[in-house]
Amino acid sequence: MVNITAMKQLYLLVFLFPLLAMTGGSERQAERERMVRTQIEARGVTHAATLRAMRRVMRHRLVPPDVRAQAYSDSPLPIGYGQTISQPYIVAYMTEVVRPAKGQKVLEIGTGSGYQAAVLAEIVDEVYTVEIVRPLAQRARRDLNDLGYENIHFRTGDGYHGWEAHGPYDAIVVTAAAEYIPPPLLAQLKEGGRMVIPVGSQFMTQQLVLVEKRDGRTRSRNLMPVRFVPFTRSE
Ligand code: SAH
Repeated sequence: MVNITAMKQLYLLVFLFPLLAMTGGSERQAERERMVRTQIEARGVTHAATLRAMRRVMRHRLVPPDVRAQAYSDSPLPIGYGQTISQPYIVAYMTEVVRPAKGQKVLEIGTGSGYQAAVLAEIVDEVYTVEIVRPLAQRARRDLNDLGYENIHFRTGDGYHGWEAHGPYDAIVVTAAAEYIPPPLLAQLKEGGRMVIPVGSQFMTQQLVLVEKRDGRTRSRNLMPVRFVPFTRSE
């Protein structure tokens, strides 16, 4: 006679449990929870919407298969074409400093994996992101679409020029290191808006710079030394 109970247990074990683990936002949730506590909150990030977004975005679905296992480790990871996805803490910190909020419109330069765009898209209304490496832009668009993000808009091209048609922006997040702050980006920042950008060459120490526009004037201050891939220019 067939042992029904044993069969039920087997069915649960080989079929239902993996299915449950794979569906919904719970995929690798425990790892994200640990990442937020030990890497992000532990280093002083307190902005509630940022922490919520970091707990939600499935970083492992936005990195290439060969580094997926390390998706929640405390480090940047290669994403192909000589580019990298930033360390989770840096993404959280850059998000927090521009104080994103519901109702806002944000411009990102350097889509890369699409991870920073997704974190912003969890918080603000619309995210406009520009990437210079076409295959990266295409992959990010596909992956973010698969994850169901409908408020991220993509453009392939040189982000030096920003994306004027949708500006001005409440916040601008630049994720590649420029030698100076591109003037078109300053022009596309709203009054009262904030921009975060790594400044410096590939061979020097770069500084993460926060720019604020108030009364038509811009004020900048250095936040911390960082290391980003270079901001490249198209001809
Ligand atoms: N925000 C990304 C980080 C990717 S690394 C993420 O979350 O994964 C920085 C990205 O900036 C790279 O993909 C690089 O190709 C891109 N980049 C460099 N110079 C650029 C430019 N002038 N315009 C747009 N993107 C640029």
